[in-house]
Amino acid sequence: MEKIVSLCKRRGFVFPSSEIYGGLGSSYDYGHYGVLLKDNIKQRWLSAMVQERDDIVALDSSIILHSDVWQASGHVGGFSDPLVDCKFCKKRFRADHLEDSQCGQRPSKRPGEASDCDLTEARHFNLMFETRVGAMEETGVPVYLRPETAQGIFINFKNVAGIARRKPPFGIAQVGKSFRNEITPGNFIFRTLEFEQMEMEFFVPPGEAEEWYRYWVDERYAWHRRYGIRESHLRIRPHEADELSHYSSATSDIEYLFPIGWSELEGVANRGDFDLTAHTNASGTKLEWVEQDGSRYTPHVIEPALGVNRSMLAFLVDAYDEEVVADRDRTVLRLHPQLAPVKAAILPLIGKSDDMTGRARKLYEELRPLISVEYDDGGQIGRRYRRQDEIGTPYALTIDEQTIEDDTITIRERDSLAQERISIARAREHLLDRLAEPWSSPRVDA
Ligand code: ATP
Repeated sequence: MEKIVSLCKRRGFVFPSSEIYGGLGSSYDYGHYGVLLKDNIKQRWLSAMVQERDDIVALDSSIILHSDVWQASGHVGGFSDPLVDCKFCKKRFRADHLEDSQCGQRPSKRPGEASDCDLTEARHFNLMFETRVGAMEETGVPVYLRPETAQGIFINFKNVAGIARRKPPFGIAQVGKSFRNEITPGNFIFRTLEFEQMEMEFFVPPGEAEEWYRYWVDERYAWHRRYGIRESHLRIRPHEADELSHYSSATSDIEYLFPIGWSELEGVANRGDFDLTAHTNASGTKLEWVEQDGSRYTPHVIEPALGVNRSMLAFLVDAYDEEVVADRDRTVLRLHPQLAPVKAAILPLIGKSDDMTGRARKLYEELRPLISVEYDDGGQIGRRYRRQDEIGTPYALTIDEQTIEDDTITIRERDSLAQERISIARAREHLLDRLAEPWSSPRVDA
């Protein structure tokens, strides 16, 4: 993990938050390439959910909702983690994750393993951040920052179903920030106080829930594979009966082999009619589906829920590679080209040659309205290539002496390092074709 953290800082993907004030635990800021990578992940998810399908529509609901939403959903009473404190080392742990935690003592052990460990009973700690709406501290109405985006979808069921011109099975997809007062220290961006979620609630006739649940587990697994996650590092883990949330009749985690071990990347849950029934009862508004013949039912819900930041971490870990090429170390992010923050670097071989820089800038201006490209004429070409390798740029287009003679350029491929000469007039078409090709990780699948 240290190598990923260091690359992210060095290349401006992710910075620790509030660093000049000593930092704030479990909070991170995203730099230029981090923003671009995160945006690409969100776009690919939205495209798979909405653009490539007929049965899902988009929504963007508020972060701050009426407090009754969280009463009805069960979050006010039940959205908590069991925590234990160690009176000896003063550290705090999730009672349900003691196996994966490290105690504060040296040499490090599991909490409770050393003879001096003095653990308290587990206490429940609500994960929702509370704030107030209104000018006055005393009179303002207490509200919560949402801990998940899903409830904004359920309470809009009637609005959307009315205008979406779709009948169950149909879904509503949303991407947005969520907030959880996570007490246990995170592992980089794996678990943070604020994060983005990509959640989709798929409303189905009750008798079809089981079938759609299985469908969405497979579909979501395939999405991670499609964008390059290696098969050996991805698995589906169905929850045991005693692990299920109060609302769920079946849940599977899609797990990734993170440096901290196999952990949840995405959850797919069969939530039954729990949410729509709870909001119907609490609000008095019937959240149900009425058929043409007047018969009515409460749809059941299948929910795939994925964190953008956790997904980004999985893509970074899966892409990070080191190798020795011609006696030199090379660090390379083998990201799927469609996720890569920059698709192509435009590099004049000699930065001081007006002929080369002029042609390179012209190509850059031609490509930039279409795709994310970067122009770089500073320093040795080898160093410029290495910089692009580290941010995962799949192609580098180099303008050299020969370009001036015959209008050809080289296109260098990040993964194989193969170089090919193509005509500058065809560069745009060539690049767009290559970016559209299916891609799988060249990393050894072990
Ligand atoms: P965990 O068991 O890891 O706390 P969860 O089961 O509480 O996760 P869900 O409520 O199912 O998580 O949220 C759906 C997804 O949102 C998770 O699979 C994860 O990708 C992401 N996620 C949840 N909490 C966080 C967090 N604190 N930081 C970053 N991502 C998160």
